[in-house]
Amino acid sequence: MGGTRRQENQNAGPVLVWFRDDLRVSDNPALFSAVQSGRAVVCVHVRDTVSQDLRRPGAAQDWMLHHGLVALEKSLFALGAKLVVRSGPSHEVIADLVAETGAKLVHWNRRHSGPEVAIDKKLKAALIASGVETHSFQANLLHEPTTLLTGAGGPYRVYSPFWRAFEKLPAPRAPLPAPMAIQGHQQEIESLAVSDLGLLPTRPDWAGGLRENWLAGEAGAMALLQEFLQVGIIGYGQGRDFPSKPHVSKLSPYLRFGMISPFQIWHEAGKAAAPAHDLEKFRKELVWREFSWHLLFHYPDLHWRNFDQRFDEFPWLTQSPGLDAWKKGMTGYPIVDAGMRQLWQTGYMHNRVRMIVASFLIKHMMVDWRVGETWFWDTLVDGDPASNSASWQWVAGCGADAAPYFRIFNPVIQGGKFDPDGAYVRKFVPELSGLSDRYLHKPWEAPLEVLFKARIKLGDTYPKPLVDHARARDRASQAFESLKKAG
Ligand code: FAD
Repeated sequence: MGGTRRQENQNAGPVLVWFRDDLRVSDNPALFSAVQSGRAVVCVHVRDTVSQDLRRPGAAQDWMLHHGLVALEKSLFALGAKLVVRSGPSHEVIADLVAETGAKLVHWNRRHSGPEVAIDKKLKAALIASGVETHSFQANLLHEPTTLLTGAGGPYRVYSPFWRAFEKLPAPRAPLPAPMAIQGHQQEIESLAVSDLGLLPTRPDWAGGLRENWLAGEAGAMALLQEFLQVGIIGYGQGRDFPSKPHVSKLSPYLRFGMISPFQIWHEAGKAAAPAHDLEKFRKELVWREFSWHLLFHYPDLHWRNFDQRFDEFPWLTQSPGLDAWKKGMTGYPIVDAGMRQLWQTGYMHNRVRMIVASFLIKHMMVDWRVGETWFWDTLVDGDPASNSASWQWVAGCGADAAPYFRIFNPVIQGGKFDPDGAYVRKFVPELSGLSDRYLHKPWEAPLEVLFKARIKLGDTYPKPLVDHARARDRASQAFESLKKAG
């Protein structure tokens, strides 16, 4: 940009950059382009718990969001700008800030859940009507849901053709660098402190496990990515199914809040010294996230409406006496309990184990998938509007490209196969750690003297199984058969 144009723009009022699920300064097109415009930049985050239909993040997400905002505030400050934090209905807050600052341009990176799209559209129309320009950017998905469509122009409902179509599109663009500096706005703008948003738990402070496990912000995300690309990605294809192995990236909470972008992950992974099949498998998983977001964009009710509406008649329970035991990791099935305790302690659960615990809730306990989805939403640091709903529906059998309902995981076999040396169970269910591998995933089969030696008293130090696997499997199969007959 020439000197005169830059001069003109400096006098043209600031650009407002609205940070949402993109808490980063690198590869942030809305910010990058605002800085390029030569105008002063006002960076803002709005805590919106009031706009209609917006799903409020769960408690563990709030914790991650708090620390992500603090990290973003520091990064922006180092570049020369402040982060303005406000709370209220987002379209009103942004409109107020535009009026206060005299901004004639508002930038944001696009988001894709129904209520968010509705807010952005409404705001855009109002701003344009009052003479303010808006620019939105592609930042959080490698391809927009409006561009990756079937030949007939509709959304994909099955992953494999989605991936094939994805591969035919131009490769994802290269990530943008962080700006060298940001010209902040001169005028003092009223702002809350991040801590005023009340995102952290206080009484009680249950976040100790989260603090031990996550370093929110871009630097934390990049460090994790680099560590994964040096160690974890080699062998990812096989290793990603074993919860005690270091073959998953744990980048999901960072992706959730945009502390890293999928473009950065895609391209950095391409530079790793990884076997081609491991790289492809990793990228394919990243594209499962895209697939989930495309589904949510086209089916905005995904978090509560059965994708396959034949399941509307399914006799799922919304209450169950065992629900508390499932949440607390006290079902008596060690792999299920280890997963639920990993979730409670760290805000994360390994993907293989997510499938096992979800299947257990839905098929062994016959509980409605929405009950489990809600618990995950509240307890996961990576609770994601698209992946959580799509994955729960997938396990339940009622989702797009879903696992068939009659596929009922046997938690003992799953445990033996994917945690053969019991390292995962021993870590999260320490009261079983003295048990030999032979009985670790089925302690109720251990002879009394074996249990005694391992200091285990079933029903006392560790629960007896909540349900009998064979009986539960038959009950679930019968329910499914009745659905088929009715359908
Ligand atoms: P990696 O194996 O390192 O994969 C890299 C990235 O690819 C992940 O960060 C994620 O963005 C994406 N990815 C990997 N697997 C999947 C998948 N199966 N579906 C969609 N994207 C995937 N993921 C969430 O991000 N948020 C959720 O709320 C969520 N809820 C889930 C609920 C259930 C019942 C199940 C079965 C899965 C859920 N997943 C969810 C998907 C998956 O379990 C996580 O994305 C994954 O475990 C994150 O760990 P990672 O970053 O170490 O994954």
